[in-house]
Amino acid sequence: MAKITVIGAGVYGLSCALALLKDGHAVTVLEKGRIGQGASGGLVGALSPHVPEDWNPRKQFQLNALLGGAAHWAEVEALSGLPSGYGRVGRYLPLDDAYEAEKARSRIGGAGRFWPSEFSWQVIPEAHGLAPEASPYGVVYENLSARISPRLACTALAAAVTKSGGEIVENHAAGGLEGMSVIAAGIGSAALLAPYLGEGRIRGVKGQAALLSGGLQAGSPIVFGNGVYIISHWDGRVAVGATSENKFTSASETDDKLDAVLAKAFLLVPALKSATVLERHAGLRPRAPKPEAMLGQLDEHTFVATGGFKTGLGNAHAIAAALVQIVRGEAPDIPKDMSPTHHLTKRVKQPMPWQILS
Ligand SMILES: Cc1cc2nc3c(=O)[nH]c(=O)nc-3n(C[C@H](O)[C@H](O)[C@H](O)COP(=O)(O)OP(=O)(O)OC[C@H]3O[C@@H](n4cnc5c(N)ncnc54)[C@H](O)[C@@H]3O)c2cc1C
Repeated sequence: MAKITVIGAGVYGLSCALALLKDGHAVTVLEKGRIGQGASGGLVGALSPHVPEDWNPRKQFQLNALLGGAAHWAEVEALSGLPSGYGRVGRYLPLDDAYEAEKARSRIGGAGRFWPSEFSWQVIPEAHGLAPEASPYGVVYENLSARISPRLACTALAAAVTKSGGEIVENHAAGGLEGMSVIAAGIGSAALLAPYLGEGRIRGVKGQAALLSGGLQAGSPIVFGNGVYIISHWDGRVAVGATSENKFTSASETDDKLDAVLAKAFLLVPALKSATVLERHAGLRPRAPKPEAMLGQLDEHTFVATGGFKTGLGNAHAIAAALVQIVRGEAPDIPKDMSPTHHLTKRVKQPMPWQILS
């Protein structure tokens, strides 16, 4: 058993803390502000698979995480006595052009090959709540996606950590590292990683989202179309998001880019227009040099679990389980793209035929 400090009380840090506690370690989580104040405290919470084609270890890792999500969140709810908002509700993807519809049909077989048999990717003629004009070529329905309420999930995870014997210290920014530590500080990881990997290895990609009073039946499948997610949460409120911005002046303010996302959502699900916008929110997704998460060991005492980017809520428990193995000195079955050193390598571009000839 070791004494381990986890830096950051977002979904990554809290999930790592819980997994390490279950493995018998003594864990303290340091959080510079309050629990879930970073990317994890947003509104959206779609837990969705990659498209079932061109299969690779990254897609398999995400699939395994999604398959384990129901049991994981049931355990967190049981330990904490609190809801997480988790539900495996499935997802609709409206098809608005013939080419996309053909591609969607070609993926039916891929789901049969790569996903467990209880999950499928189908193309259906229409879906309740979706505007027929937005889905003239039908709708994909897949029953693997799930959703979570990010803020509830963080609160439940934090309670599970403390009830399992862990300590969470809020309003305590870690300036440096002492003893055995896990860097899980979202965009704050950049400064902590600098001595190991150089400056600026984690950057923030801004996302804006909104919470509406209703517009979709509670328990409806997630809708994903035209780059926009529409999620009916467990209490009937509906989240709509999100922008993806590499350049921005304010990380925390919302603007007309969110209005554009809402306008797209209204075209997909017209009933949303009569709902009230309860909240507009912006956050920074932690992105490592590559789009995959960064997970691994930096020196004898120091570990990193960060860079969840757009899928951190869905894979945090799988990242945490793999971290426990790394701390034990084992080699988890994770995509090699996640290792800190791999994040520092440049992607090698394949030459075009005429470049080879010349
Ligand atoms: C608009 C938006 C929509 C999203 N939608 C989805 C989605 O649908 N599905 C999905 O899976 N993911 C989604 N994501 C991504 C997901 O939210 C992130 O991948 C995930 O929350 C990252 O978790 P984290 O714990 O690594 O980081 P964070 O949640 O940012 O947590 C890091 C914590 O570390 C703390 N910290 C920083 N520096 C220090 C320090 N020096 N000392 C102590 N504490 C420190 C911060 O205060 C923060 O609380 C979305 C993100 C955004 C912004």
